[in-house]
Amino acid sequence: MKSLLKVIGYLWVTLLCFEVQAQKDTLLVSEIMPLQKEIMSRLTGKKPIKDSIYIGQRASPRERELTVEFLSQQLTEIGWQLDNHHYKTTNGNPFLDLILSPASGVNISAVLPATRSSDEYVIFGSHYDSERDCPGAIDNATGVTLSLAVASQLAQLKERNVNFIIVLFDQEEDGEVGSKAYAKMLQKSKKNVYSVHTIDMMGWDEDNNRGFEIELPSLDLERFYKSEAEKFNIPLYTTKVSSSDHKSFIDRGFNTVGISEEYVKGDTTPHLHRPTDTYETVNFDFLASSTQFIFHIFKTLAQ
Ligand SMILES: [Zn+2]
Repeated sequence: MKSLLKVIGYLWVTLLCFEVQAQKDTLLVSEIMPLQKEIMSRLTGKKPIKDSIYIGQRASPRERELTVEFLSQQLTEIGWQLDNHHYKTTNGNPFLDLILSPASGVNISAVLPATRSSDEYVIFGSHYDSERDCPGAIDNATGVTLSLAVASQLAQLKERNVNFIIVLFDQEEDGEVGSKAYAKMLQKSKKNVYSVHTIDMMGWDEDNNRGFEIELPSLDLERFYKSEAEKFNIPLYTTKVSSSDHKSFIDRGFNTVGISEEYVKGDTTPHLHRPTDTYETVNFDFLASSTQFIFHIFKTLAQ
């Protein structure tokens, strides 16, 4: 009898350890929110991004440079290996390049290797630039903040059977210049990419249903997201919206999905590309709960 009690006791302690580990892997919404508010306030000019420098938008070369510096530091601090992608596009003709200067920018990128040998990659990210004269809080500091919080939690997982890459794209607002350059480079690299997930605008949920849309998903990813969302009672809508970074990867044949608030259903920010797209309009509950769901998706892919 005593030994049976011992076994039960042992099992109980083991179970508790698993529980503690599981809780450590997953931050609570209440823990995520202050971190996300801090990042959001620096990206949107509510707090200085560096020393005493405030940025009211992320559009000019200098503002984008400051953003790259800030976000690169964040990724390094949470244990990811920085591997920023500097690109320069041409007009396809050296004479034309003299008249129309080619676009150049930086996609902030970092790698989190698998904990056991794997050549497979899951890629996710969001554009960090904003429209001119627009603080770009919902579009798309929210996507960046979601991606960072997910990255931080992935780094704490004891086991990951795939490699992760986070990419924070430059110049989405100029015609997805950054993600197009990145997708081209990725295809050339011949990496074994399982899937690409891009997040653009996750800060508006007026009907409080925690629902969001998956844009132009592959059949495979649509099935996966929908079956997981059902477990959390989150309504998901599939749409054919193509005006964001996911398009750059679909065009090159990657297994891709775009993620956004309920843009097509109309439960979306009315401040898009306006000076009023500010920190104050962000629904931080929705941002944090969406972060948890997307983390769950990647954690499942890592198993
Ligand atoms: Zn956007």
